[in-house]
Amino acid sequence: MNNRRKTYRKYVVFGITISLALAVTAICVVSYKNTITPAGIIIHHSALPYPQLEPEAYLPLITEIHRRRDYGIFYWGRMYYEGYHYVILPDGTIKRGRPDHCRGAHAQGFNSYIGICVVGDFSTTHNPDGSSGPLQPSDEQIKSLAELCCRLITEFRIPPGQLLRHSDVNQSTECPGDRFPFQVLIKEIGTKPRGSEDKACSVQFDKLVFQP
Ligand SMILES: [Zn+2]
Repeated sequence: MNNRRKTYRKYVVFGITISLALAVTAICVVSYKNTITPAGIIIHHSALPYPQLEPEAYLPLITEIHRRRDYGIFYWGRMYYEGYHYVILPDGTIKRGRPDHCRGAHAQGFNSYIGICVVGDFSTTHNPDGSSGPLQPSDEQIKSLAELCCRLITEFRIPPGQLLRHSDVNQSTECPGDRFPFQVLIKEIGTKPRGSEDKACSVQFDKLVFQP
């Protein structure tokens, strides 16, 4: 009887060990498959259906919209639903979406790029009179965006020509809107426009604060 019990216990322990090993292997395989080395940066605007929200409500709303669109991805033990890697609120606060090395879900064919969403609708067509929020990003948003881009460009050695707007890689969208001041951003970052071989980044990162 005792021997039987011992044998039974051995089988149980063996079974649990195998199950755990399989689970860990599955997590590693799937997460590895969903890992990127950021090749560039793509800038978006949020163009949300509800533009006037409390600041803290923007990221959860984006997350929910993207969850319903099935943008979720499994990465090292958890699901991420927001397709962007970062969201920049109207006051310039930078919110983290999915991790930098997790494949994005923001631009078809370019999801190995970091996706940054600036909250607002900067399209003359869709927001002609400001009823869907400010006509242009706030100064704080541009400043935070420039600092964030600079950090990413430096960290991942992203060539200046790989800092793009969504509309640069997809002709069917005007995201981040025709009023998005891309050249102002480029100037702020200290890079030259697309195609330049100049070195990026003159902005300091000391005051960059991330809010999870
Ligand atoms: Zn976009």
